[in-house]
Amino acid sequence: MKNYKLPKKIKTCNNNCLFCFVKQLPGNLRSSLYVKDDDYMLSYMYGNFITLTNVTADDLNKIIKYRLEPLYISVHSMNENIRTIIFGNKKNISGLENLKTLDRNGIKTNIQIVLCPGINDGKNLADTLFILLNDLKNMLSIGIVPVGITMFNKNHKLKPYKRKSALEIVDYVNNFKKDYKSVKDSNNIYLSDEFYILAGVDFPEYEYYGNFYQIENGIGKSADFLKQVEDYLKYDHIPIRGKFNKSRKYILIVTSEYGKAIISNALKIILEKLNYFGEKIVSYIKILEIENKFFGGNIKITGLLSGKDIISKLSKENMEIYEKILIPSSIFNEENLTIDNYTRKDIEIISSKIKIISEKGTSFIKELTF
Ligand code: SF4
Repeated sequence: MKNYKLPKKIKTCNNNCLFCFVKQLPGNLRSSLYVKDDDYMLSYMYGNFITLTNVTADDLNKIIKYRLEPLYISVHSMNENIRTIIFGNKKNISGLENLKTLDRNGIKTNIQIVLCPGINDGKNLADTLFILLNDLKNMLSIGIVPVGITMFNKNHKLKPYKRKSALEIVDYVNNFKKDYKSVKDSNNIYLSDEFYILAGVDFPEYEYYGNFYQIENGIGKSADFLKQVEDYLKYDHIPIRGKFNKSRKYILIVTSEYGKAIISNALKIILEKLNYFGEKIVSYIKILEIENKFFGGNIKITGLLSGKDIISKLSKENMEIYEKILIPSSIFNEENLTIDNYTRKDIEIISSKIKIISEKGTSFIKELTF
């Protein structure tokens, strides 16, 4: 965390975005989840995305004076009419002007586009990328993420990406980057990992992501995880072989639908790198994929799994056959609460074999091999 005090009063947004996640929550969650934060200090300190639609001239001066960078900015589109549809108001136009002011003053930014089928993709996406590349001199990266839709969404204009449409986006962005490779920064346009999982294609290589500017936004997180698994096996495979000669029980890995795709890739790496021992390790692993019934829709990432869905699925397992049950810590917030208010203790109490581990590839592979 950077050495700044949290603001006493958090700035909230004055938008009414088409896909706002706050609008798509059920009505009985903890109050902090309904706060629509849009605060440049939180952007600077934690990488929260902001819209710059609520900043004053004083705020801009402060950002410039104290070099509060990089900032993480949600742009979605550079077309005013489309922005008005997405942001749900006309005030959004000031957001673009403020972004340009910051850029002219050398403030570095990471840009986010939440892509909505039929609204800001297709020609609009090309225009948005082209304008951003041309107009912003201090942009570090552009991250494109698919719209998240829960079963509580009431806006029928919102559609999720499916396999075919996700594949079209992957091809589209690859071609765009090829066509504009001579334009500065075109290399720093990235799709979130979800697009590759949805499209059913391999993640780009680790090197593709450069400085991993938007890893917290799910961009390159999978490639980083897999690289950590691969590196660990490269350097530590000899002790693993020794330790694996004892008999062992199964290991249960609790994960989401998207998490399963990443873990399956990690198991392939184990098989490739360790051959006979790899087969032995993998044969003792069971992946428990948890369907997100709490949110429904297309919410399939691990961090948004509910305690209730996890407990319900685990209750059908015979815990006796497992040596350990691995649950990723990303299901908890900084107060150790799941999205539906289950505590870490509520989960751990299910079985003494439960181990909550970080979502890092190194932690994962260590648990499988020791
Ligand atoms: S900026 Fe949009 S998505 Fe973010 S909190 Fe406000 S309304 Fe919701």
